[in-house]
Amino acid sequence: MSRLDLHLHTTHSDGSLSPADVIGLAYKAGVTALAITDHDITTGIQDAMATAEPLGIEVIPGVEISSQQGESEIHILGYFIDWQEVEFNARLAALRASRHRRNPLIIEQLQALGIDITYAEVRTLAGTDSVGRPHIARVLMEKGVVTSAKEAFDRYLAQGKPAYIPRELPSPVEAIQWIRAAKGLAVLAHPTWVKTTEGTLTDVVRLLKAAGLDGVEVHYSTHTARQTREYLSLAKQVNLLVTGGSDFHGLTKPDIEVGIGKGTLHVPDSLLLTLKQAAGRL
Ligand code: AMP
Ligand code: ZN
Ligand code: FE
Ligand code: FE
Repeated sequence: MSRLDLHLHTTHSDGSLSPADVIGLAYKAGVTALAITDHDITTGIQDAMATAEPLGIEVIPGVEISSQQGESEIHILGYFIDWQEVEFNARLAALRASRHRRNPLIIEQLQALGIDITYAEVRTLAGTDSVGRPHIARVLMEKGVVTSAKEAFDRYLAQGKPAYIPRELPSPVEAIQWIRAAKGLAVLAHPTWVKTTEGTLTDVVRLLKAAGLDGVEVHYSTHTARQTREYLSLAKQVNLLVTGGSDFHGLTKPDIEVGIGKGTLHVPDSLLLTLKQAAGRL
């Protein structure tokens, strides 16, 4: 039985493996179609396509955009985007610029805590324009300040920790509109992360659907069987497409593997046909 993985990060954002290496792992895991969904950048897609083609793996051009609604970060995935579209890439470049305003402030906080680290070191390790906290976590690991990315987030980088600095983020409605303007499908990523202060997750999802949301990531590495069932029924109730993926990052989430997540993820390849129909790609 073949499987999909529609949520993968590479070295073009905060993943630790190149697109070619990620495709290699996907091949070994029996993945027949996948999406590269780097944060705020589309440059990894071409390399991924070049490596995947001879292996018979289909690459769906994707992206992941972080947005903010009230207290909650809401991540929106884009699929089948016109990834070379100039205006869309300009929007992503603006998001990356906001990362470069934020990251040096995080570094200043770490320095104030007595840690020897510079933003230049982080940029060198990242080797991409889409620089995120996981890159800072990896520099802290390399310096022996922490032994895992989790520890870096738990001690310094997560919200509420001493080196946390917020980033200016678009609203989820903006992210959805940008993805749709680039002819993509907009999908709510990992719904477990959504914090609701007023109303329920269903209320939030209904509002996003009214703004153009196309789907929800029902299958995800950390979802329990019960959560998967709940989100499947949410998708049915609100009439949304179903997607799924591992959110593989390599080193910064070492317990998550391409295609199988923590071992129990299975994204059925039957989803793909429906997604393609909805995206007008058939
Ligand atoms: P940023 O985009 O710079 O705000 O960093 C957020 C990213 O860091 C998320 O998209 C996750 O990939 C990753 N992340 C968040 N929390 C953790 C954690 N506790 N451990 C490892 N990675 C994390
Ligand atoms: Zn990430
Ligand atoms: Fe995410
Ligand atoms: Fe992700």
